[in-house]
Amino acid sequence: MEPKDMICIACPLGCRLSIYEDNSAEGFIVSGNKCLRGIDYAVKEMTNPTRVLTTTVKISKAFFSRIPVRTNGAIPKSLIYEAMKLINCIEIQAPVRMGQVLIKNILDTGVDIIASRSMYEREMLDHIKDSTFEVKKSL
Ligand code: SF4
Repeated sequence: MEPKDMICIACPLGCRLSIYEDNSAEGFIVSGNKCLRGIDYAVKEMTNPTRVLTTTVKISKAFFSRIPVRTNGAIPKSLIYEAMKLINCIEIQAPVRMGQVLIKNILDTGVDIIASRSMYEREMLDHIKDSTFEVKKSL
């Protein structure tokens, strides 16, 4: 079998890895890695590639119309499309705090979709802005 080349994304060094199947107990031979994490990464890419999904979700009553969200763990790459379809169907309402679970156990992966940042209600921000203005006026 032809070796497969890939870049290791387990750390910023980005080693160029080469992996091919063989008859050893491990089942694969990996080269180009500067540490053992590179071997784990390459074998996982060949057997069950996973990714942390980052995207945005519609939010109402907030200053912005979308809020950044992410999975709180890696999910199989093959489920990313289905997960995105689900995520695109929801609309949440401010206020939201960072880390809040928005979709629990997405697609039975054991992984949740969580808010990547907090977002206040628009009225609350207007109130804060008005109070700041009042304080400035009284100085
Ligand atoms: S093989 Fe090790 S050193 Fe190289 S990119 Fe992967 S984690 Fe970093």
